Amino acid sequence: MVGADGRESKVRSWTGFDVQREPTYLFAASVLLQASTDLGNSVHYLADPTTPRSAFIVPVAKDYFRPYLMFRHEAVGRQLSGEKDAPDFIKHCVALGAPAEWFEDVQIAGPLATFDGASRWVERPYRDGVVLVGDAASSSDPSWGNGLSMTLRDVRLLSEGLCGDKDWQRAASDYAVKQAMNASRLRQGETLLRDLLFEPGEAALKRRNHAMELLDDEPERDPDLFGLGPEALCDDTARTRFFGEV
Ligand SMILES: Cc1cc2nc3c(=O)[nH]c(=O)nc-3n(C[C@H](O)[C@H](O)[C@H](O)COP(=O)(O)OP(=O)(O)OC[C@H]3O[C@@H](n4cnc5c(N)ncnc54)[C@H](O)[C@@H]3O)c2cc1C
Repeated sequence: MVGADGRESKVRSWTGFDVQREPTYLFAASVLLQASTDLGNSVHYLADPTTPRSAFIVPVAKDYFRPYLMFRHEAVGRQLSGEKDAPDFIKHCVALGAPAEWFEDVQIAGPLATFDGASRWVERPYRDGVVLVGDAASSSDPSWGNGLSMTLRDVRLLSEGLCGDKDWQRAASDYAVKQAMNASRLRQGETLLRDLLFEPGEAALKRRNHAMELLDDEPERDPDLFGLGPEALCDDTARTRFFGEV
């Protein structure tokens, strides 16, 4: 049996998997907007190094775009939810540097909701004939946009394993080892990114500014978690380099 029922997986709880969960660090809020502004094919990432929040603005169709707001609780003060919070949501996007005219005459075209980004996972997503894929096996922080790619990777790994081995217990066990390793590597990379980009306080701000200056000239210091997912090298050496300590 394959459990592919998402981050609140019932298959996972009904079949007795132990779920690990990291403490809450970031929240991600989003809403679909209908607008007269044409953002073309550009995706915009906006960050204010002085407050632990950033925005990601993506055109999704003609006349529609979707902003995401990623933040630590103290940067916004509450979990934005429902149409009543849309003006505050937009206010944060504009404060981060999005042109105010993008939001003139916008219509709210979907629910505004905030998600707790804390990763959840099981150590081995296979036991007793039940295998978990996607968010049911490990849900990552949506702030870093790796969840769907990880899900598709899980599906590929599992299907290749089952097609290539008549012993499905063994194939599923092998899959579980690979899945857990990928998820662990992704969590390591996410920790590195959020420590640099979202850590509050004066010392963190100084470190962030220093690292950003270096990245301008040497973009290869960035381990590229967005592009490479669990393939990104995010060990202690990579961390030191990304943080501009060497
Ligand atoms: C705010 C936010 C932004 C995100 N942005 C990105 C992004 O930019 N890029 C990216 O790659 N990932 C992103 N993700 C993560 C991505 O959405 C998930 O990683 C991905 O959808 C996981 O796929 P899944 O099939 O495992 O689970 P889901 O997509 O959650 O699918 C599970 C399905 O199971 C169904 N289901 C649940 N219980 C039952 C039941 N009892 N019976 C029948 N059906 C059931 C659900 O209705 C759902 O359709 C984001 C997530 C969030 C919350």
